[in-house]
Amino acid sequence: MIFDLMVIGGGASGLAAAVTAGRLGASVLVLERMKEPGRKILASGNGRCNLTNQNISSDIDKEARLFAAYRSDSDFSSASDEGFIRHVISRFDSKKAEEFFASTGVLTHSRGEYVYPRSDQAKTVRDALVRACEETGSVRIITGCRVLDIACASEGFTAACEDGKAFTARKLILAAGGRSQEKLGSDGSGERIAASFGHHIIPSVPALCSLKTDDPGFFRAAAGVRSEGRVALYIDGEMASEEIGEIQYTSTGLSGIPVFQVSRYAGKALSSGSGVLARLDLLPDMGSEALFIYLSGQSKAHPDYAVLDLLSGILNEKLSFAVLEKTDIAAEKAACKLSKRELHKICNALKESSFNITGTAGFEDSQVTSGGVSLNEVDPDTMMSKLVPGLYITGELLDFDGICGGYNLHMAWATGIIAGRSASES
Ligand SMILES: Cc1cc2nc3c(=O)[nH]c(=O)nc-3n(C[C@H](O)[C@H](O)[C@H](O)COP(=O)(O)OP(=O)(O)OC[C@H]3O[C@@H](n4cnc5c(N)ncnc54)[C@H](O)[C@@H]3O)c2cc1C
Repeated sequence: MIFDLMVIGGGASGLAAAVTAGRLGASVLVLERMKEPGRKILASGNGRCNLTNQNISSDIDKEARLFAAYRSDSDFSSASDEGFIRHVISRFDSKKAEEFFASTGVLTHSRGEYVYPRSDQAKTVRDALVRACEETGSVRIITGCRVLDIACASEGFTAACEDGKAFTARKLILAAGGRSQEKLGSDGSGERIAASFGHHIIPSVPALCSLKTDDPGFFRAAAGVRSEGRVALYIDGEMASEEIGEIQYTSTGLSGIPVFQVSRYAGKALSSGSGVLARLDLLPDMGSEALFIYLSGQSKAHPDYAVLDLLSGILNEKLSFAVLEKTDIAAEKAACKLSKRELHKICNALKESSFNITGTAGFEDSQVTSGGVSLNEVDPDTMMSKLVPGLYITGELLDFDGICGGYNLHMAWATGIIAGRSASES
């Protein structure tokens, strides 16, 4: 049998594409390499699936925040092209995402701007997509089927699978994801297949991941602490990105949402041999001068306190200890013996300690992949390849990555739905 449409990858984007095309009456075959579809959806949002974000809208007042949320090394924001992300969002914003899920029986609610299923269970989302595929009566999902290659056939495209089977369809959606967390399915084969069609792949690096440093003493002392802070990432001495939020200290380095948000810049810079440094402000809500006045006041009020105790009113003890180690000032030194220079040294360490970044957590521990098929080679109105008619490319396989907050899944649904609609209408 020749299908109207074949979808490689039954993840977020592939399932959204299949539901859409199936509802429009197309016969659709989804080939998924894992034993069940949507494994990554199940893991998303700590099992709650942060499926979109209310900032994803064409409202002019939300535009700055929206464009700051997506990054790409394809020139998608150039003035000549209206911009890939803008095109996609103008067709499918967060309201459309909520409507789409409502049509599958999933209602949503939000925490701040982050939108989740009302059940707060990622499984609800994955199961609803699979049920919606079944309900169309024209979508077939084959699991445990890894596609090795795609060949152009006179009827369209033929997929050759690892188990020796072959399937043919008139149109093809490549929705195989990036390279993050192979255990959840995406193993980079999408990039290889896209490249076999002549597509240019922007080199991929892990993003939304923790960072490794070369200061084992500090991180051994601070491991396990979560504390509000600002992280500024410098590449070859120039600030590339900065974020405030709850930083998590691990035995090897830095983690937590603000670190995740800046990690793609570290990954890109390290892969090109640049020097990467993270500068931390451990007390972002306190200016340097106010901090100095506070600490000198405390040392006068409590001259017999150990210096570690002086910091206890403003910072986690383990973190204070790590900071003092960095300054070479003994934690037990009496406050009355601290010189003005030493107080300044402590303030500086609290406000701007620097750490060399030596690596990222790697693809196996990253939430998304930065890089992939160049956006310049895909039509944002349809998701069709500009190189190969009938081939559509969607989701994380494309060269964009969003920050935490529902931005990545949103683009997976959006690009999948646009491709599913275009492929079955044309
Ligand atoms: C732990 C974790 C938590 C996350 N939480 C969130 C969140 O809360 N909100 C958010 O917006 N984003 C989140 N993300 C990111 C988000 O899940 C992804 O961006 C999104 O799933 C990408 O969708 P996709 O369809 O492009 O790829 P995927 O969902 O990865 O789907 C690709 C599918 O293709 C299959 N496949 C790959 N190669 C082949 C092949 N050769 N043959 C057959 N099948 C193949 C894979 O098995 C997989 O099922 C999270 C990611 C992780 C890892």
